[in-house]
Amino acid sequence: MTDDLRTQLAEANHILFDQGVLDAFGHVSVRSAERADRFLLARNMAPVLVTPADIQEYGLDGATHDPAPSYLERFIHAEIYRARPDVHAVVHSHSASVIPFGLSSAPLRPLFHMAGFLAQGVARFEIRGTAGDATDLLVRDAPLGAALAASLGDAPFALMRGHGSVAVGPSLPLTVYRAVYAEENAALVLRTLPLADVVALTEGEGHAAAETNAGQVARAWDMWRRLAARHEVLRAG
Ligand code: MN
Repeated sequence: MTDDLRTQLAEANHILFDQGVLDAFGHVSVRSAERADRFLLARNMAPVLVTPADIQEYGLDGATHDPAPSYLERFIHAEIYRARPDVHAVVHSHSASVIPFGLSSAPLRPLFHMAGFLAQGVARFEIRGTAGDATDLLVRDAPLGAALAASLGDAPFALMRGHGSVAVGPSLPLTVYRAVYAEENAALVLRTLPLADVVALTEGEGHAAAETNAGQVARAWDMWRRLAARHEVLRAG
């Protein structure tokens, strides 16, 4: 089971790179299937290069027995898993279209059914509220991770001002789906700014669309992982 999960997590890394959500930075994790107080996350490396052998197991304190270097921001994952028993996967990215919404009061509303889950809530994290106005913006310790998790609340998505975002969900494929469509929806909102009378989904439409789409994620996953396989040449060195 864990081997399957490691393979799926490596694929998630490749998909998120291929879909333009992650670049050399950002990361994706999944909660252990055997132990709710453990999660899997790649060692400190570019997501597209991750193989199952590069995946480490962490406790909710952000510690691992693996001596290979860890991502500085592993506390994002650790503290969200601690605060949210319903969450089984976390994507942290710096994807570009989402950034403007963390900087402004402009709401990231769902404009099309594929992003209906955004009606479940878009949280905001302001690192200055915890760590002052001279940080490097990184969530580099447990208290900052806990502050981010508190800001996230029970939402599926949080904006991190001047930094990026987190998407969370009950499974790895659905969380990857959310990260992909949050970015796409953000780009759509920016494209509609010159237009008058833009109509977003209602809360009811968002919830209904999210429920429908949650049953269709396998179709996207199967295509996305095949598309992402074209980057195998990068992993070969
Ligand atoms: Mn980051």
